[in-house]
Amino acid sequence: MRSLFLLFAILSFASPTKEELRKQIAELKVKAFEIQTQVDLLEAQLKDIETAEANQPLPAAKSTAPVKVRCAGHTKDGQRCTRHADPGSRFCWQHKTKR
Ligand SMILES: [Zn+2]
Repeated sequence: MRSLFLLFAILSFASPTKEELRKQIAELKVKAFEIQTQVDLLEAQLKDIETAEANQPLPAAKSTAPVKVRCAGHTKDGQRCTRHADPGSRFCWQHKTKR
């Protein structure tokens, strides 16, 4: 990087004066500051996204949610009941009340 800059400086200014060098150094320092500011901004954005991801429920937490279980009962014509079983039960409200 340093050698590249020196090459660039030699090509641009065959015999740079002290003032020209100081001016170029000052300009590069401004650019460096701008780039650092952009890096800080992007890092802040990345951190925001990572924080948002970290606050999302884990997939394991989702599995603890109530799972819809189909009722184990049968209708009067012998078909499997199509209702969802009540939480913590194998039967829906209708078939549970019969037992
Ligand atoms: Zn049922």
